Amino acid sequence: MQLTPEQRTIRDLAADVARKEIAPHVAAWDREHVFPRALYTKLNDAGLMGMLVPERHGGSAAGYVAYALAIEEISRVDAGTAVTLSVHSMICAAIDKLGTEAQKETWLPRLASGDAIAGFALTESDAGSDAARIRATATRDGDAYVLDGRKQWCSSGRFAAVVMAMFRTGGAGAGGISAFLVDPSTPGVRVERVTEKLGVHTSDTCDLAFEDARVNADALLGNEGMGFSGAMTALTRGRIGIAAQATGILGACLDASVKFASERQAFGKTIGAFEGISFKIARMATDLAAARLLVYEAASLADASEPFALAASEAKLFASTAARVHASEAVQIHGGYGYTTEFPVERYYRDAKITEIYEGTSEVQQIIIARSLLGKL
Ligand SMILES: Cc1cc2nc3c(=O)[nH]c(=O)nc-3n(C[C@H](O)[C@H](O)[C@H](O)COP(=O)(O)OP(=O)(O)OC[C@H]3O[C@@H](n4cnc5c(N)ncnc54)[C@H](O)[C@@H]3O)c2cc1C
Repeated sequence: MQLTPEQRTIRDLAADVARKEIAPHVAAWDREHVFPRALYTKLNDAGLMGMLVPERHGGSAAGYVAYALAIEEISRVDAGTAVTLSVHSMICAAIDKLGTEAQKETWLPRLASGDAIAGFALTESDAGSDAARIRATATRDGDAYVLDGRKQWCSSGRFAAVVMAMFRTGGAGAGGISAFLVDPSTPGVRVERVTEKLGVHTSDTCDLAFEDARVNADALLGNEGMGFSGAMTALTRGRIGIAAQATGILGACLDASVKFASERQAFGKTIGAFEGISFKIARMATDLAAARLLVYEAASLADASEPFALAASEAKLFASTAARVHASEAVQIHGGYGYTTEFPVERYYRDAKITEIYEGTSEVQQIIIARSLLGKL
């Protein structure tokens, strides 16, 4: 795909900041599960925090192709930072699309400047893929809503200044759900549990408990009853980001595999001279190229304001599967070294798996794709 000069600039800025500000620290951050809060100021200096925020609210309005390129470059170095930035950007886009002028003025300049990070809270212990089953409630009380319930695995929950959180305001099902912009420092909101996880250790994931937490009625994002569709609107955009994250992991696997296969000797040859290894690398490169095209296709449609939900699901399904499969192959190519922390491929292997799970599992993506072909199943 032919990139515009602006898109190339954003990609190069993201690659540069990843190389200088993330690469030297990522192994330690991963090992020690550090959320590098100060890094987001540097990402802001590179203009990456407001990629999906209009210029009049302090963003760069760079668009989805530029955003996908930036997420891919950052994920090539650290998938944890990439998901934080992706979720943050998806909430920026949701506020821009669904918010009132006052909400946009309150949040978008702060989010675009990196002063504030945004999180997302839909999932509950009994409602993941079947998100319409959420039970947390928002009860109207005068000019406020009172929030009660638990949200599980909220990205950036401990560090976010604002979380787009879904609560039940009406009856059962999707139509009874509303979205709110909640500051997690609101009295009655607390971090209940920090999630220990397989990978993406530089991202923050936690459970948030809401007990009699009062927010002003103007925290409602969109109308009452529109929260489920608002969450799906956000997630559809977010899937472009996760597909780009998976593509970045895949790119990192390819770089590491080519380097190792060109240097490691066995039976008097570099291992890259064996078909058993070189064919793995050939397939990795081909899937990387295909994943990129699918991501660009979805992002280009979004930039053109064309329907892109199907393309986003296809991109996420393909790129996340490819990342998981080839991260395993990258470990295999590295042999025993691949299983140790001496080489980064064990991290890519751990990080790749989550791309098949969050923002709609691979099964959910297949439901979306199949429905678009066959109608409601
Ligand atoms: C690190 C991490 C970060 C996360 N960040 C966030 C976040 O910021 N905000 C947030 O709200 N959530 C977040 N999540 C939650 C994530 O989006 C959910 O885990 C995901 O949507 C799947 O839900 P579940 O875990 O409840 O699995 P379930 O929905 O219980 O699914 C279990 C299995 O059943 C399959 N399945 C379910 N329904 C069907 C079906 N109809 N057909 C076929 N198969 C089906 C699923 O694909 C899966 O394989 C995060 C999770 C993790 C692990």
